Amino acid sequence: MTAQLIDGNALARQIRADVSGRTAALKARGIQPTLAIVLVGDDPASQVYVKHKVNDSSETGLVANLERYPADMAEADLLARIHALNDDPAVHGILVQLPLPKHMDSHQVIEAISPAKDVDGFHVASAGALMVGQPGFWPCTPHGCMKMLESIGYDLRGKHAVVIGRSNIVGKPMAMMLLAQNATVTICHSATADLGAMTRQADVVVAAVGKVNLLTADMVKPGAVVIDVGMNRNAEGKLCGDVDFAGVKEVAGWITPVPGGVGPMTRAMLLANTLEAAERAAG
Ligand code: NAD
Repeated sequence: MTAQLIDGNALARQIRADVSGRTAALKARGIQPTLAIVLVGDDPASQVYVKHKVNDSSETGLVANLERYPADMAEADLLARIHALNDDPAVHGILVQLPLPKHMDSHQVIEAISPAKDVDGFHVASAGALMVGQPGFWPCTPHGCMKMLESIGYDLRGKHAVVIGRSNIVGKPMAMMLLAQNATVTICHSATADLGAMTRQADVVVAAVGKVNLLTADMVKPGAVVIDVGMNRNAEGKLCGDVDFAGVKEVAGWITPVPGGVGPMTRAMLLANTLEAAERAAG
């Protein structure tokens, strides 16, 4: 079997087009959807990520205001700035780029963001809303994975989904989203005794670990959907995921590539969440 590809670039384009259209509609009502991006310090990877976020926003008609602060900024000053952004009706979404400098408590900083503007979906209130099925903002990466499943018309009801990785921003929310679609969900992690025994039972596998070739062909049930969240560098320095793509594509029914899979979907879902925040504020 050769798996069908779930093209994250193509799907992200569709999502961006939808965001552009809905942004134009809000602008026609005099509302400019606006995202505040807060970057503290000069982490090189973070600089690249925020540049993408600013460019993606302007391409879809959103305004992204990038605020840069020095690495030695006092946490109290950052909290004060977040409170001011919370109170600013012209700002619909607030994103604090992680990681923060070591002297700051990331949890406390994220908790300072108003849940109504938490477009990254990292606030405890956002996690709680997802858990109990109330409206809130879903973290962009697992949300993008759900859109990928939706794009192939996959009915999760009664299917067994195995999520590998239990981080608060990917694995755990992913499991909640799958559960909400009536899948039976298993979460695996570094202490899981026999990962292959779990994944071989899965109709859907989501790999979110950060380890090259974690998931190999012998660990996949024929026809399964395989979603690769991992972002790693292989021995040649090339970007790759957690899945042995060449091997697994011969067994799986559907597979996401890296690059061109979950990455562009994560970026697109930030735009969708920001627009959603603006639409909710507009009523
Ligand atoms: P994390 O380090 O917070 O969590 C990794 C998880 O993997 C942990 O729960 C750990 O228990 C589990 N794990 C480690 N070794 C394991 C093993 N041998 N078997 C099973 N589980 C194991 O990472 P994260 O922030 O959730 O990110 C995971 C990966 O996804 C990374 O490669 C990251 O770069 C990538 N990522 C990609 C995107 C994207 O947009 N494509 C977004 C977020 C994260």
